[in-house]
Amino acid sequence: MKNVLICQPPMYQGTTWLPYVYGSLRTVAEQDEEVKQNYNWLSPLFRQVDTIKDFTDQYDPKDIDVLGISCYEWNHIINFKIAEYVKLHNPNCLIVAGGPQPPWRDDKVFDTYPYIDIIIKGDGEVPFSSILKNLVNNRSNDLVPGLIINNQGVAQRTAKEVPYKFDIGPSPYIHLSKQFEEFAAYPEPSFATLETNKGCPYKCTFCDWGSATNQKIRKVGKDRVYEEIEWFGKNGIEMIYITDANFGILPEDVNIAKALVETKEKYGFPRNVFYNLAKNNDDRIVDILKMFNDANMIDITIMINFQSTLDNVLDAMERFNAPFPKIKNMVRRLIDVNIAPGSALIQGAPLETVDSWKKSVTDVYELGIHEETRIFIWQQLPNAPATDPEYIEKYKLQAVDRVPVMNRFNKDLLPKIGRLGLSSYLVESSSYTRDDWAEMGVFSAFTLMCHNFGFTRYIAQYHKHSLGIPYFDFYNTLYDKFKTTEHYSKLKDHLYKFAAQDGSTFNIDYDDSLPWLLDPEEYLFLSVSEDQELFYHTMFSDVTDAELLDLISFQQQSMITVKSKNPKDVIFTMNQDWVAYFRYLKSSYYEIEDYKPAQTKRKYQCITSHYNNIFDNLSLKDYCVKILKRKAGRQDYTLISFEKFKDVTNDTN
Ligand code: SF4
Repeated sequence: MKNVLICQPPMYQGTTWLPYVYGSLRTVAEQDEEVKQNYNWLSPLFRQVDTIKDFTDQYDPKDIDVLGISCYEWNHIINFKIAEYVKLHNPNCLIVAGGPQPPWRDDKVFDTYPYIDIIIKGDGEVPFSSILKNLVNNRSNDLVPGLIINNQGVAQRTAKEVPYKFDIGPSPYIHLSKQFEEFAAYPEPSFATLETNKGCPYKCTFCDWGSATNQKIRKVGKDRVYEEIEWFGKNGIEMIYITDANFGILPEDVNIAKALVETKEKYGFPRNVFYNLAKNNDDRIVDILKMFNDANMIDITIMINFQSTLDNVLDAMERFNAPFPKIKNMVRRLIDVNIAPGSALIQGAPLETVDSWKKSVTDVYELGIHEETRIFIWQQLPNAPATDPEYIEKYKLQAVDRVPVMNRFNKDLLPKIGRLGLSSYLVESSSYTRDDWAEMGVFSAFTLMCHNFGFTRYIAQYHKHSLGIPYFDFYNTLYDKFKTTEHYSKLKDHLYKFAAQDGSTFNIDYDDSLPWLLDPEEYLFLSVSEDQELFYHTMFSDVTDAELLDLISFQQQSMITVKSKNPKDVIFTMNQDWVAYFRYLKSSYYEIEDYKPAQTKRKYQCITSHYNNIFDNLSLKDYCVKILKRKAGRQDYTLISFEKFKDVTNDTN
């Protein structure tokens, strides 16, 4: 009997991600009676390990005959360290690496990782089972497709990989139910992976989704999916991550969403779902989102993934978005079912320029998407099409290895960079310099601060819908004023350093009392909040129009900064009916022109209860945790929604 260990350390702390990779590999392998009889599967490693000692506290390398490491960005460093250690202490152990991290294109891969015996490209289920069978029979793996074999340091490639069709064996959650029930019973909340299909028909060059882009979609059998959903409910799984590249692309996805909602009604679980939405078929997607939203199963903003809005930039990333009228239609439908959509963009694509970037950032506002914009910086994933040498040469791409960019980087993780490893980010291309890249980054942070955290969102909307000034022009004008400030210079220097200097971080330290390095837009928001009056003065000191001055005052009344008083019970007077004005803009899906506010004096009172109890002894950290959030549209945060002001003109005379 030989022992197999699968290592898949998790991404997040404080939760239990059920070890789906282990389950899938074992379930498929055990459908072969010979493999089943000859292998004992050690309890998998799927909880946080920081050091080799954490590993050896649980496992003795001498007990392991086959080690499978599932390597992702968040765990590859510790996985490689474990593999190296095991090989050193047990040279006979066969070490097999899978996942998207080992660089498949590199013919010298085993110079870097001499302790790895075999790398599996793409789906691991069938090749891993074949490797186990060959080991028992003392046969070579030359005929197993999809492998890179370490032949005395030389990378020997077998036939092209064959995508797995989910046609062998039952669901891992069902096959290993008893063991998975034990895992799910750990004290931390459990998260589980739900795979209803694999493969993405698109081939965006930055992406390596499941190492299965530019492929036909392979469906998991319906029965298996519904059995798994029932299992999740019964076993109290907190959150389900649907790993499909395009959830909503298939008609059956509506029924899957329905089953998740019904399971929550029946068992109280799963409480939340997370998914990646398909780009087309608005009707189906809106139906799915409405179901999840009504069942209170969505804890984040609904993102429409643009990456860019410019045709030439999209062409360079080989991505095709739905046309604007179709997106507009989707925005309308989401607003109708009371869902505020957000947008996602990638900064630093090939063929991007500072101006094209500004256009993309403001185009999403033109489409009526005013809640969260999530901006990612272009990361070079080891096996994505963008790391093909021809592509790199074509667009003259230059990447740098840096501390990973995270949403609030925990300062405690800095000493653990040795475990986390560095990630590769694009900072230069044929169309932009590193200085341009930093400029794009400052513009991103500036508009996120102004529009998403809200310092100027209402003012920008008024310029668009009452004065006919597009968002691009409005924010460019403000940005030119911002460029004269110290905030601009500091942030620009910081981002340029990231692009040019080894050891620098993207996230920024704002204050010793905070446990995280902040995202640039959060850093900027807090910095500007220190003197909000100065900010508005810098931006609008030339305004003389009474209506606009009144709106600027309304905008200021709507902001909750760390210096704000509890807005509860604050009553203020406006010369225009701004609440009715913004309500009408929203009800017209932000498509109206030349619309003017009613010239009637109004008194407003903030009626949201969200901030009650928050303001007693509010520390900077509390403020960041409770108010400075990005889940725009799903809760109150730095900008009080106009919908949370009650007109009390008649109540108070
Ligand atoms: S970004 Fe989305 S649509 Fe594009 S290849 Fe990746 S999974 Fe497919």
